[in-house]
Amino acid sequence: MNQLITEANKCLLCKNPRCKKNCPVGTPIPEIIQLFKENQIEKAGEILFNNNPLSAICAVVCAHENQCSGNCVKGIKGDPVEFYEIEKYISTNYLRNVSFKKPSTMLEDRIAIVGSGPAGITIAFILAFKGYKVTIFESKDKIGGVLRYGIPEFRLPKDILDTLYLRLLELGVKVRFNTLIGPVITIDKLFSDGYQAIFLGTGVWNAKTLNIKGETLGNVHFAIDYLKKPDPYLLGNKVCIIGAGNVAMDAARTAKAHGVQDVCIMYRKGFEDMSATKAEIKETLEDGVHFELFKSPLELFENGVKFIETNRIVDENGKVRTVPKEGTEGFFACDSIIIAVGQTPRNNIVANNKGFETDPKGLLVVDDIGHTSVDGVFASGDVVTGSRTVVEAANFAKIVAESIDHYCKSRRSTKQENKTVS
Ligand code: FAD
Repeated sequence: MNQLITEANKCLLCKNPRCKKNCPVGTPIPEIIQLFKENQIEKAGEILFNNNPLSAICAVVCAHENQCSGNCVKGIKGDPVEFYEIEKYISTNYLRNVSFKKPSTMLEDRIAIVGSGPAGITIAFILAFKGYKVTIFESKDKIGGVLRYGIPEFRLPKDILDTLYLRLLELGVKVRFNTLIGPVITIDKLFSDGYQAIFLGTGVWNAKTLNIKGETLGNVHFAIDYLKKPDPYLLGNKVCIIGAGNVAMDAARTAKAHGVQDVCIMYRKGFEDMSATKAEIKETLEDGVHFELFKSPLELFENGVKFIETNRIVDENGKVRTVPKEGTEGFFACDSIIIAVGQTPRNNIVANNKGFETDPKGLLVVDDIGHTSVDGVFASGDVVTGSRTVVEAANFAKIVAESIDHYCKSRRSTKQENKTVS
């Protein structure tokens, strides 16, 4: 607690706070710090939750170095305010101690939310508070999406998701677990059962491949699958992870935590080009993972990876590219290989239901406020933007929740007008 007070006292309470401006969900940071200093913790928690129902999670998993603390004026000449530690304290306590009640007036409108990741959870809270009857359909056995089945426990303790689930239940939200929407329960079926609007927040769960030989071998795995449930995997003593985003770091650190002695990340560029945050790279190094940089895999084998060394070049558009260095083929011996080079959406809904416009990557096409090409169906999160971040999913979901509310309201008033006329 003393440490948090020290952090709060460091804050200059700027009139034009750069921290807030650089937070994708516009967290009112100086206001919260002021309330914290006045010991108005519950009020601060309520403001944070109303602005972002995933505040307690964002406090842990956001890339703070690029957002709040990375833009704190105090950081120009010294140490920035670590607001996220204060946010974590306030928001975790708020969620644990608060108890929600169903709104006194419930609406007749029923909303289906497909997917209980950050996007689905955010929309569910906002619409349930407005009095909608919300049902979440989730293909897995617990809520959370990537928060539960991607980000490892040592980075994000899952009890916070269980608490969020309890809070949703208090608001009357129903959850149908182990229910895949698309092939059997179709979009039309949901509409015919009286759902006025449907929200799709299904994320990106198909692994991108390297398009090289060997990806189906028994010792080769995709990070997105491995991270779902790492326990059954027998990876051996030496593992090579291919890729250098946050997913690769999580896979490497998880393998280490599961007892693999030698874990290496192979990447075709250098540290400065990695999409993982500096903080995650640092923690990965601290865990004893080593890096094989400027190496590009050519083929995967049961005993390792054939690679070629690369040169880094910056093209005329300023884009970093790599070119193979002729004659530098080599072999990296290892027991298992984990591929972590990105994800794309699954097509359960698009393939089994007519009318959804997608882009060449299979992502759902929506307008600025989340309308898909099918009337009454909305979408946001990774299934629209491709792999992004929790806070971006939450922020876009806030906009889409208002859009769904507006859609339902106009349908209600049209129905009312039709009744009056007849
Ligand atoms: P998801 O979280 O993917 O949730 C989608 C949900 O929909 C899932 O529960 C899925 O089971 C369900 N679903 C899918 N299809 C159906 C269907 N047809 N019927 C019913 N249910 C369905 N971001 C950060 O900000 N910080 C991080 O540290 C970070 N680390 C990450 C680590 C990993 C390993 C990964 C993969 C991603 C990470 N991200 C991180 C990205 C972040 O988690 C995502 O941007 C975010 O989860 C997207 O939220 P979403 O709600 O769109 O989708």
